[in-house]
Amino acid sequence: MLNIVIFGAPGSGKGTQSAKLIEKYGLKHVSTGDLLRAEIKANSPLGQMAESYMSKGQLVPDEVVIGMLDELIKKNSDVEGFIFDGFPRTLEQGKALDEMLEKNGQSISLVLSLEVKDEELVERLLKRGEISGRSDDNRETIESRLKVYYDQTAPLKEFYRRQGKLHEIYGEGSIDDIFAAMEKVIDSFAQ
Ligand code: AMP
Repeated sequence: MLNIVIFGAPGSGKGTQSAKLIEKYGLKHVSTGDLLRAEIKANSPLGQMAESYMSKGQLVPDEVVIGMLDELIKKNSDVEGFIFDGFPRTLEQGKALDEMLEKNGQSISLVLSLEVKDEELVERLLKRGEISGRSDDNRETIESRLKVYYDQTAPLKEFYRRQGKLHEIYGEGSIDDIFAAMEKVIDSFAQ
């Protein structure tokens, strides 16, 4: 099993690089953002609740996302491995993920952290907002998402560094060069 966390600030390229990783390594993609947006689209009670946080750039409560993941991991016990994209986003979620995997005799193999400077992140997110029309890609929400990232999510880097799993990847430059840097880390782990 190869379980990868793709980590980084909003706009660091997690979704783009996850798509390439899935194609090459055949992993099951788990994006909590995508799962939550699907709930909003379906207008479910969970979606309505999540939207009130997402539209402000805040995190959806831990117990909600952890519950979603618990179910998903149980349902996919036969996969080659997972790529977690946008989860975990808090220390609580990180600890819960370790426990959920452990229950199934698994663990996180690697954490790939995409490092991109703030100005570049803002520029990318504004551009994405124009193209995709994602409602949280506007200047005000982007600023709160970045603050939330530094306050609540970035401490996870230390959590994974202490476990010896953190690999920082320079996340600027071409998509292919960034992917090549990730491949190098994964392939040396998998050997
Ligand atoms: P993303 O598509 O990963 O950028 O996520 C979009 C939004 O969904 C975030 O700004 C949060 O409001 C919410 N979200 C996604 N993943 C999580 C998570 N793991 N924990 C809490 N909120 C999340």
